[in-house]
Amino acid sequence: MRKIILSSGNEHKIKEIKDILKKLPIEVISKNDIGLKEFDVVEDGKTLEENSMKKAKELRKLVDGIIIADDTGLFVDALDGEPGVYSARYAGENCSYEDNNKLLLRNLHNISMEKRTAYFKTVISVVLENGETLIAEGTCNGKIAFEPRGKNGFGYDPLFIVDGIGKTFSEMSDNEKNKISHRANALLNLREKLEEVLSENIGCK
Ligand code: IMP
Repeated sequence: MRKIILSSGNEHKIKEIKDILKKLPIEVISKNDIGLKEFDVVEDGKTLEENSMKKAKELRKLVDGIIIADDTGLFVDALDGEPGVYSARYAGENCSYEDNNKLLLRNLHNISMEKRTAYFKTVISVVLENGETLIAEGTCNGKIAFEPRGKNGFGYDPLFIVDGIGKTFSEMSDNEKNKISHRANALLNLREKLEEVLSENIGCK
């Protein structure tokens, strides 16, 4: 059976990815399962595509199989797309989620609700066994709240009010979030592409 290796060590993401890909005839494992917990790359690309592809290609140098790497950003319209590709370190190197959220609220302090539109985007890059690549992406639209709301999730979840639902991601259960999130949408797109790859044996060495 062909094998997928996830470059992420984040248990939340690993569970979500395994869940969505579980019906495919393929074994899904994470870098942690093969003793590469410490594997990391410097995310110095200018786009999510560049960063996720870099992660996938670097891991491909160390292991055989289909490699999957993701990168996510929050793009806020009133801030010309910031924090975007710098979402993880918006408030500086080694900052906390709370630091990022505080800075985001400060930068939007005089912006009205209708102008606080934003979207999350996830890009998933794939390197197949023979080096061929695939890319899948997913988005989720919303608005930035005036203050944190809810207890679940991580990152910018307490501030992101999902369009059409009116709750922040932090006010949703994992299950609810995972049905509509940017990452879920990217994974569903990826699943379609992988189904084709697997059924036609594309990308084998
Ligand atoms: P990563 O590329 O998935 O590591 O995401 C980069 C940064 O975006 C994270 O450090 C979080 O701050 C933020 N982020 C990614 N995914 C989510 C999400 O689903 N909800 C809220 N914040 C997220």
